[in-house]
Amino acid sequence: MSAKIIDGNAVADEIKKRVSSDAAELTATGSKPHLTAVQIGENPASKIYTNMQAKACESVGIEYELLNLPAEISQDDLLAKISELNASAETTGIILQMPLPAQIDARKVQIAISPVKDVEGMHPENMGRLFYGGGVVAPCTPMAAVELLKRTRPDLAGAETVVVGHSEIVGKPIAMILLQSPDAAPTVTLCHIATKDLASHTRRADVLIVAAGVSQARWLSYRRRKKAGEDVRVPDLSPLISAEMIKPGAVVIDVAINRIPKGFDENGEPVKNEKGKNAMQTVGDVDFESAARIAGAITPVPGGVGPVTVAMLLANTVATAKAFG
Ligand code: NAD
Repeated sequence: MSAKIIDGNAVADEIKKRVSSDAAELTATGSKPHLTAVQIGENPASKIYTNMQAKACESVGIEYELLNLPAEISQDDLLAKISELNASAETTGIILQMPLPAQIDARKVQIAISPVKDVEGMHPENMGRLFYGGGVVAPCTPMAAVELLKRTRPDLAGAETVVVGHSEIVGKPIAMILLQSPDAAPTVTLCHIATKDLASHTRRADVLIVAAGVSQARWLSYRRRKKAGEDVRVPDLSPLISAEMIKPGAVVIDVAINRIPKGFDENGEPVKNEKGKNAMQTVGDVDFESAARIAGAITPVPGGVGPVTVAMLLANTVATAKAFG
């Protein structure tokens, strides 16, 4: 069997078209959606991310503002800034860029963002609404994963669905979103680090959603321990989910984004590219090549859940502006 490859870029484009028309309507009525991104200090990785956000917002007619705050800002000063943005008539959505410096308690700041401007859907009030059938927004990545799944398999009633990963931002909200339709919900099993015999669960899944990030976690741990001078073995970075762990014909949604070396030299250092830098690759948690021969449909990494996540951030921004702007 050869799986249908689920095209996240195409779905993202479709969602962006809808968002663009909603944003134009809102702007015409004088309530232009305006996303303020709060970034603390300088970070090359988040710069790439904020540039991407700015471009994505611009492409659909959402105003984007990057608020750069000093790396040494205190928790109280940051909370005061968030209060200002909560009260601002211009800002309709707020996004907090990660990572945050050590003196900042990310959870406290996230909770300080008004739930009506919480475009990431991470505020406890918005998370809580997921239990009651959904509010205005939900976390972007879980929404993206479920969107791709529903477009691939619209009838999920009673489908054996296994989610690997139970984090607050991905695994748990995916389960909550899937359970929302009272009569048409799949049967959801949440697996995690303490799950015994993972394969016994994944092999019976009609729908398999994977969000663990195992290879990247192994690589980062190896790098940290090697830097600290420990005598460590090159880690096994092979994907968590092999083809043998997949039920023939299953829909596989790979949420993970693992940025890992392409290989290692005899000294345990990553092999280099032509520029002399570590040759890296972006892969998911699923062994895509072999899984695509057994699954019914599968998302690629990159090009699957990632682009739809960005589209969902835009959709949430317009949704909050529409509901509360
Ligand atoms: P996390 O580290 O918070 O959670 C990882 C989860 O995986 C935990 O529930 C843990 O118990 C589970 N896990 C770890 N090892 C396991 C194992 N061997 N067997 C079974 N379960 C195991 O990570 P997260 O923030 O939830 O992110 C998960 C993945 O999703 C990462 O790869 C991340 O990069 C990716 N992600 C992608 C997007 C996107 O836009 N596509 C957005 C957010 C996160």
